[in-house]
Amino acid sequence: MTTPSPVWHPFTQHGLGEPIPLIDRAEGARIYDALGNSWIDAISSWWVTTHGHAHPRIMAAIREQSEKLDQLIFAGWTHEPAETLAAELVRITPDPLTRVFFSDSGSTSVEVALKMALGYWANVGADRSRILVLEHSYHGDTIGAMSVGERGVFNRPYQPLLFDVGTIPFPHEGREQEALDALEAACREKPAAFIVEPLILGAGGMLVYPAWVLAEMRAICARHDVLFIADEVMTGWGRTGTRFACDQAGVIPDILCLSKGLTGGAVPLAVTLCIEPIFAAHLSEDRARLFYHSSSYTANPIACAAANANLAIWRDEPVQARIDALADAQAAHLAMLAAHPRVANARRLGTIAALDVVATDTGYLSNLAPRLTAFYRDRGVLLRPLGNSIYVMPPYCTTADELAEVWQSIAVSLDEITR
Ligand SMILES: *Cc1c(COP(=O)(O)O)cnc(C)c1O
Repeated sequence: MTTPSPVWHPFTQHGLGEPIPLIDRAEGARIYDALGNSWIDAISSWWVTTHGHAHPRIMAAIREQSEKLDQLIFAGWTHEPAETLAAELVRITPDPLTRVFFSDSGSTSVEVALKMALGYWANVGADRSRILVLEHSYHGDTIGAMSVGERGVFNRPYQPLLFDVGTIPFPHEGREQEALDALEAACREKPAAFIVEPLILGAGGMLVYPAWVLAEMRAICARHDVLFIADEVMTGWGRTGTRFACDQAGVIPDILCLSKGLTGGAVPLAVTLCIEPIFAAHLSEDRARLFYHSSSYTANPIACAAANANLAIWRDEPVQARIDALADAQAAHLAMLAAHPRVANARRLGTIAALDVVATDTGYLSNLAPRLTAFYRDRGVLLRPLGNSIYVMPPYCTTADELAEVWQSIAVSLDEITR
C-alpha cells in the first residue's frame, strides 16, 4: 500500500518509488497491516526485537511506568527505574564495569564511549586522542560514529567532516595474525582507544571472526594501555548465542556499548558502561572535569522500565534455551542451502545466519539487495539483504514453521536468480 506521505524514510531511495507497507500492529515474530496481511519479521525489525514483538511483560511495564513518571531531567535527579536498571546491568556484566551512562541510541552510546575515552586521557593529562577501528565496521550514523566506521558511498558527502582514524585490517580466515600484528603496531603509537564489534561485523556484511582473535585483540590493547571499546549494540542480548559476544571470548572491555535489544526492542534506550578508572578520572571538585554529555531523554523512565522488564524476562524465562534452539534450527536450514550453486560463505554465529549470493554474471548482482527485499516482501517475509549477503536474524520466539517459511523463500529466491 502506497500513500502520499511527507515522511522521509531512513536508508530509502524514494526516487525508486518502491512501495512502503503501512504496518498496523505486531506480535511475536509477525507484523501486520490493517488489511490482515502479515510478514515474518526475519531481521527483528533491524536487529532490535529479541524476545518478540509486544512481549506482554514489556508492554505491561511500559503501561505501568507511564502512569507514574513519564520523563525526568537526569542531570542532578534520578528515579527508581534507572537506578534498578543500572544496578542490574552492573551485576550481569563483568565486575570491572562499574559505571553506567545512559543515552538513547546505539550511535549515541558510541559517541559517549569515544568521549569517555578522550575525556579519560585528557583528565589524566595524556595527549592521546587517536581512535583505532576495524575495517568494515559500523558503529552508527552520527558524525563521530561514522568517523569510526567504514567509509563508503553511504557517507561520502560527509567525509570532509569525519575525523581521521587508524584502520586495522579485518581478520579474514587465515590472515588473523596479520590483523593482530597491525593492531599491535598501531597500539605502539599510543592511541586513545580501539573500538570493535565483537565476533561479528553487522552492517559490514555479517562478517564473522573467531573468539580467540577477539581475546588476542583485547590482550594487545591491555598490554599497550589502549582503552578497549566493545560495541555490542547489535551483538548484545543473545544474538550471538551468549548474552554478550564478549562472553564467548572471556573478554572484559573497558567500555561497553549496549542498545538495540536493551529494552527487548520495544523503545529506544542505550547505555555505555565503563570501568571505574574512567569514571574516577572525571571525579573532581573542578567542574571543568565533569563529563559533558547529555541527551534530553537520557534514562527516560518508561524506556528504563521496559529494559527492567527485559532483564526480568532474561531472569525468569528460558531465554537461553530459546536462543540455543533457534541457533540449532538456523544451522540446519543454513546447511541445506550451503551447497547451493548460488551460495558462498554460509556462516552462522548463534542465532544469526548469513550467506553470500554468487553469480558469474555481475548483472545478476547489481541491485540484488533491493530486488531480493521486494521479492521477500511480496511473499510475506521481512528480510533486507546487505549487498549480496542474505542474513536471517529472527526474534527468539520465531516458531519452527515461521523459520521454515523464511528459509523456503530464500531458497526460492536463489532459484529465481539462477533462472
Ligand atoms: C545499529 C548499530 C549501531 C547504531 O545504533 P542506532 O541505535 O541505530 O544508532 C551502532 N553499532 C552497531 C554495531 C550497530 O549494529
